[in-house]
Amino acid sequence: MQNLQAVIVGGGHAGAQLCASLRQSGWIGEILMISDEPALPYHRPLLSKDYLSGQAKMTDLLIRSPSFYEKQCITRRFGQVSSIDRQAHQLTLCDGSKVSYDKLALCLGARARKLSIPGAGLAGVHYLRTLSDIEAIRAELDGKRKVVVIGGGYTGLETAASLTNLGLAVTVLETATRVLQRVTAPQVSEFYARLHIENGVQLRTGCVLSAIEGDGRAQGVRCADGELIAADLIIVGIGVLPNTELAEAAGLSVGNGILIDGHGFTNDPNIVAAGDCANYFSTRYGCRLRLESVPNAGELAKVCAAALCGKFDNIDALPWFWSNQFNVKLQIAGLNVGHDTVVIRGDHRIGRSFTCFYLRSGRLIAADCVNRPQDFLLSKKLISEQLQVDVVRLVDESIPLNALMLELI
Ligand code: NAP
Repeated sequence: MQNLQAVIVGGGHAGAQLCASLRQSGWIGEILMISDEPALPYHRPLLSKDYLSGQAKMTDLLIRSPSFYEKQCITRRFGQVSSIDRQAHQLTLCDGSKVSYDKLALCLGARARKLSIPGAGLAGVHYLRTLSDIEAIRAELDGKRKVVVIGGGYTGLETAASLTNLGLAVTVLETATRVLQRVTAPQVSEFYARLHIENGVQLRTGCVLSAIEGDGRAQGVRCADGELIAADLIIVGIGVLPNTELAEAAGLSVGNGILIDGHGFTNDPNIVAAGDCANYFSTRYGCRLRLESVPNAGELAKVCAAALCGKFDNIDALPWFWSNQFNVKLQIAGLNVGHDTVVIRGDHRIGRSFTCFYLRSGRLIAADCVNRPQDFLLSKKLISEQLQVDVVRLVDESIPLNALMLELI
């Protein structure tokens, strides 16, 4: 492998982990990372929180210091890849230059889904995905008072919390009938709606938007019921789309992401894919998954790096997620796909601490743990062990979860 060149396209969480893991897995050839963002790989979750609120500087965001890339002999290049010639093992960049590879890792990530209503292109309408998106928002915050956040998913809610903490008046508009509808049970949505309302956020669910209005610059959002919600600034967080076009044009198999096998390989044995753009079959959940999360990017990157070094690990880590909003830390173990039962340990209607368990056929498959780090750790074990759980005992707070777990194993 001495003279071989591994090229990583994409400098997000997956790309950053893949180059580090390649060295750890024994890759001694060259490593080139091509990224269309000029900055070194940075922690994306901090963008909508510490960076937006001004608590973190750019250097605090870096996943690894500049010296790491130097010491590990990882070359970085700023540029955008426009095509892959799989036969010639060659990439063409948008500036026309060519780069050869022996092994290729596609860590292409996902991009913000764009709003497609009249006025969506007006100045003052922002997305929240990259460092430059946040810098554009920060540059406009001075003197602004009213913000409308479009989308009540994690992006929208985390942003609403950060901006409320900065003293802005925030309104969240969500088309679905509840926030976090795509990802959580109604009880968890109910808790987050209450948390935001109690912190002063205006929340409108079931809100269909018809236009962004303003004269040259956005001044408000017109809803389908005719109401105009005034805004000095509008931030859109309505989901992301995987960047698959490059792979598809090169003849790689795609379908809600770039399709990879259990070791991270695409249908080309010299090309792997990791992160938000990759779609794999989960034996644990019995379906294909494309996850948009940092832990997933890290896991897939490690498996892909090993595969490029001829060591075949399997993608089977338990998915997990986290979200910080106001003073509440949510930790999610597993995925709730296909659950048939939801039970709550604690009370989601009062206070700031409970766990929502999701079960399928009597087995725990996921848990949303609100300010309950211990429940999170134990849930990970319970889910991994795939034990039958008695739901009555699971929600009985007089029985410590670790005692329940000891009974089961
Ligand atoms: P998301 O989870 O898809 O949530 C976006 C929300 O916006 C959805 O409820 C969506 O409703 C709604 N929406 C769509 N179009 C709308 C419109 N025109 N007006 C008002 N609401 C609209 O996406 P996201 O919050 O942008 O996050 C992107 C990805 O990153 C997600 O996978 C998310 O889980 C992940 N993420 C994770 C974290 C974390 O783990 N802490 C933080 C940020 C983001 P419909 O579903 O009905 O379209």
